[in-house]
Amino acid sequence: MANHDELFKQIIAHAKEYGYIFPSSEIYDGLSAVYDYGQYGVELKNNIKQYWWRAMVQFHENIVGIDSAIFMHPTIWKASGHVDAFNDPLIDNKDSKKRYRADVLIEDYLQKLEEKIEKEVEKAKKKFENFDETLFRKTNPNVLRSQEKIDAVGDRFAALMNETDLAGIKSLIEELEIACPVSGSKNWTDVRQFNLMFSTQMGSVAEGADTIYLRPETAQGIFVNFLNVYKTGRMKIPFGIAQIGKAFRNEIVARQFIFRMREFEQMEMQFFVRPGEELKWFEYWKEERKKWHLSLGISEESYRFHDHEKLAHYANAATDIEFRFPFGFKELEGIHSRTDFDLSQHEKFTGKKLRYFDPETNESYIPYVVETSIGLDRMFLAVLSNAYTEETLPDGSVRVVLKIPAALAPVKAAVLPLVKKDGLPEKAREIMDMLKPKMMCQYDDKDAIGRRYRRQDAIGTPYCITVDNETLVDNTVTIRERDSMQQKRVRIEEIVKELV
Ligand code: ATP
Repeated sequence: MANHDELFKQIIAHAKEYGYIFPSSEIYDGLSAVYDYGQYGVELKNNIKQYWWRAMVQFHENIVGIDSAIFMHPTIWKASGHVDAFNDPLIDNKDSKKRYRADVLIEDYLQKLEEKIEKEVEKAKKKFENFDETLFRKTNPNVLRSQEKIDAVGDRFAALMNETDLAGIKSLIEELEIACPVSGSKNWTDVRQFNLMFSTQMGSVAEGADTIYLRPETAQGIFVNFLNVYKTGRMKIPFGIAQIGKAFRNEIVARQFIFRMREFEQMEMQFFVRPGEELKWFEYWKEERKKWHLSLGISEESYRFHDHEKLAHYANAATDIEFRFPFGFKELEGIHSRTDFDLSQHEKFTGKKLRYFDPETNESYIPYVVETSIGLDRMFLAVLSNAYTEETLPDGSVRVVLKIPAALAPVKAAVLPLVKKDGLPEKAREIMDMLKPKMMCQYDDKDAIGRRYRRQDAIGTPYCITVDNETLVDNTVTIRERDSMQQKRVRIEEIVKELV
């Protein structure tokens, strides 16, 4: 198997070749960090959305969904803190003229140290029988040295970020001798703050202002509709409001394909609870969301929680669910206990009471909020990169197969007449018509059957249904399963039962 960079490039190329993801405006040479989803991509994306929506809204009687507008009153972003504080620290390399996120340069440095530790562990694992990893990590001098450095730099970095000490961040980059990956030089500008919100103009907005923002998160659409939903839905605490929608961030450096985009989608849920009960619910949602991820059959080793030690001023607990992407463990989903910060701010800025009357305690209060926030596109990338497999078959040939969980696969079944004659296409069409109302299917009669199987493997279709001469005699077909490539003979009336 190729190294991680190579593998990632192959996944990107595969996504394009098989109609999953195209660079936006490609015939105009593309638009940086913006992507379009192709014919299979849109199906996978819709299936992920549906899988999330069902788990969050349909399965929880106390969660309802909304779909709020992208444009919102500009003061909302003042109240939420985004106008003043939704910044990333940016730094330029004077020689290459390349721009970086200063915090990411330090994070990458820390990640390299972690990779060094992992390498030591892997090396030792191969060398010793009955290898005790915990003991090794506690005693090996190389590991200890790297770990000490990670802890020391990590603590200092967190403190600098917390205090928004831009000069301190620059000093740290210099002390660690971090070089520009392009020029190799350490000739850096000062660190500056950069607001990530996109703004645009709208005819007439309140208070004469005409600047409005493309929302950088969907959550505020939920907060400002809290009263509407609470009253009209006759909701009782604890209850949640979920939303899937576009968000926009003018990311300084948008690399890594659909991992960091300037236009992306979020699937967010704000859970409103009694003050004082938020940490209990925070733990509950950590578990629930983990279960959701594991229910897709992706291995547990691909996930890890990363608890935030330093918290945003409005949060009293936060964790990231990180996924092992081809470029390492990175945030896939955030779970945050946001206290009553957002609703309190909207109360302050609007003068309207955003309170819940609790019939059990006879009190009115601003609910506390636990949110779960996952990037749809990042989840897409997690599913895609986990699915991409190159396999050498017994005959020496290599097949590329997308082992996408069947529940999410863009096409559930392909119907393939063995040959394009003898009445087989007609029979296959009958089967297509039978399956079409129940699942997304594809009919294909072009090329030899082996090539058609490969094409479906590359798309990630879990089942191929082949119609042959026997079908005309006894009404049976073969069903080939994508991952095992096992085939079995099934009666046409039983196909649906076999596939679900
Ligand atoms: P990061 O630290 O990677 O920039 P974040 O902590 O700013 O992410 P949140 O504000 O917590 O992210 O957003 C919630 C989720 O939205 C993230 O976990 C991620 O899955 C997704 N997300 C955030 N920014 C982007 C982006 N630029 N492109 C794609 N998905 C994103």
